[in-house]
Amino acid sequence: MYRIMEPETPMQTIHRSSFPNVLVADAIAPAGVERLEQSARVAYQPDISPETLKKTIARYDALIVRSRTRVTADLIFAAPKLRVIGRVGVGLDTIATDAAWSRGIPIVNSPSASTVAVAELTLGLMLSLARRIPEADAGMKRGEWLKRSLMGSELSGKTMGIIGLGRIGMAVAQRAAAFGMRLIAFDPYLSSGQINERGAEAANLARLLQESDYLSLHVPLTDDTYGLLGARELAQMKNGANLICCARGKIIDENALADALDAGKLAGAALDVFAVEPPGYSRLVQHPKVIATPHIGAMTREAQEKAALEIVEQVLAVLKRANN
Ligand code: NAD
Repeated sequence: MYRIMEPETPMQTIHRSSFPNVLVADAIAPAGVERLEQSARVAYQPDISPETLKKTIARYDALIVRSRTRVTADLIFAAPKLRVIGRVGVGLDTIATDAAWSRGIPIVNSPSASTVAVAELTLGLMLSLARRIPEADAGMKRGEWLKRSLMGSELSGKTMGIIGLGRIGMAVAQRAAAFGMRLIAFDPYLSSGQINERGAEAANLARLLQESDYLSLHVPLTDDTYGLLGARELAQMKNGANLICCARGKIIDENALADALDAGKLAGAALDVFAVEPPGYSRLVQHPKVIATPHIGAMTREAQEKAALEIVEQVLAVLKRANN
């Protein structure tokens, strides 16, 4: 016999028509889209063209982007309903912030989601330089056994210099300390006491350049940091030192770096970021003493999911406040 089962709790009626319209204009982790769909009508269009975006933006209450989509002033003024812009990742250089703020549209981002991912890549690059792992692997794939020629060195007991001891710099310092490295840092926005609390010894830039066996950059690209490491600074570095950059390409004078590597001043460099991306067959990327990666600092499943969820929660919170 059949029996009609009554639901234990009354069915919940979801008025989707009252949901805000959110456009996700770049690829984000699926968990972020799923969370968004619980509270919004979502248009997930990760390949949307600038033209279509401009034509359709008027219907949306929120826009979520990564770095691919340029949020220009034109676009912002073509979006009368827009209440919030979410930027998954770090950096607002792709967004016309003045235009957004002039219309009272907040921009939310997720600066800390990639901290661990970038710190771990930095350590990976430093180990790759020290133990020549990419060269060893390339030799094996050519059928060569380069055991004798691939003499490396140990990180333990070496000095690591960190320029910029913020979220990523600090995470790098903690991990490098676990390898038995001595840590010095240059960060003019922190007191010596704060630098000590973050696990490093404070140094000015000149001392940092002279003493570091491994020098790693973790500053944002600003007017002050543009070209921070040029020919003069590279010449002040310890002979045979290694340079690692997972921050922004324009912080280093790339030609000067290639010269310093050619001259044997530096033993090696590991770069995740470039002045122009992608850099193509640049002199630096092709250099045998350079390990290059294609801006993968934040590219871990964990960091991507964290960034997407952080942005979605912030966007929904702004929309909720705007409705109240
Ligand atoms: P953060 O703001 O937490 O730390 C930056 C630190 O740099 C701060 O402590 C600041 O005081 C210091 N600083 C600023 N100007 C300086 C200067 N002129 N000299 C020395 N120190 C200076 O930022 P974060 O989260 O640690 O990120 C650092 C940078 O890493 C970002 O700005 C971004 O460019 C880069 N990044 C790269 C990737 C990647 O995929 N490779 C991913 C995320 C972030």
